[in-house]
Amino acid sequence: MTEAKHPLDLPIDLQEALDATVADVSAYQGQGVLPSYLPSLTQVNPRKLGIAVALGDGRTFAAGDADEAFSIQSISNVFSLSLALQHVGGSLWNHVGKEASGSAVNSVVQLELEKGKPRNPLINAGAMVVDDQLIGHDSPDVAVNELMEFLRERCGDCTVEIDQSVAISESQGGSLNRSLAHYMAAFNNLSHPVEDVVSVYFRQCAIAMTCRQLAKAALYLAFDGTDPLTGDQILLASRARRILALMVTCGHYDNSGDFAFRIGLPGKSGVSGGILAIVPRVGAIAAWSPGLNSAGTSLTGSIMLEKLVERTGWSIFA
Ligand code: GLU
Repeated sequence: MTEAKHPLDLPIDLQEALDATVADVSAYQGQGVLPSYLPSLTQVNPRKLGIAVALGDGRTFAAGDADEAFSIQSISNVFSLSLALQHVGGSLWNHVGKEASGSAVNSVVQLELEKGKPRNPLINAGAMVVDDQLIGHDSPDVAVNELMEFLRERCGDCTVEIDQSVAISESQGGSLNRSLAHYMAAFNNLSHPVEDVVSVYFRQCAIAMTCRQLAKAALYLAFDGTDPLTGDQILLASRARRILALMVTCGHYDNSGDFAFRIGLPGKSGVSGGILAIVPRVGAIAAWSPGLNSAGTSLTGSIMLEKLVERTGWSIFA
């Protein structure tokens, strides 16, 4: 009888696969558009590209600019959601839905139609509702510090910081996000002042991390909410599973279906060109390349993930 293979017994050399993946996308390097509504994101070199994988046994593999920090933007929503669920549990779903939005990430129209209850926690309005819950009885600064400590501990690097110039730019260009928050306040779906809520959201978008740090930080999502290295339960397994479900259906703006079709992994895109993807029972992948497609997902980053998944067979639909 042959022994069942452990999922971490990879059929290929992962370093070779990552190097080949970066080489594969050289023709796309620098393509895509930078988000002009956030000036701080237009100052990056659009030719940057990196990818990193963190495995459940503690090994990390990386290629390209995987050790260069970028602002993780709304990828942070996955982590604030984890913390808010720890704080308030299932009552969070009284304030935010679980459906794909099929609209732009910052659509005011949808919020008006749905009376101030955002479609899901991974779009901007939903992330702000999550932040409102995360503040709870504390201050916005306490909530931000909790998120920072969580990320530092998860990735094992206490140097992770907020890029203050990005945070200022988020606030200066934040009229639309403030409008969303005011809409929700008008429908009594926020319990803190709008400025408190957006101050958490703007800072979480400005957290600077590398692909390698990001992949390590998200490992608990690949292992039923447990840190695979220590066995510590970070999040209830049922909640980790639900976050993955939301990442599949709502993680990439109005191209979540396309991402599932091409890559087949739970994921979350940010407008800085970062993408986090989770390979259940195996590990986490982070890819970064600043140019975006028309829906706001990294153009080259998503092609890198597609190529890597072709090589590894990691699609959850395989
Ligand atoms: N800071 C960005 C915004 O609020 C984040 C959007 C994103 O990454 O999806 O529009």
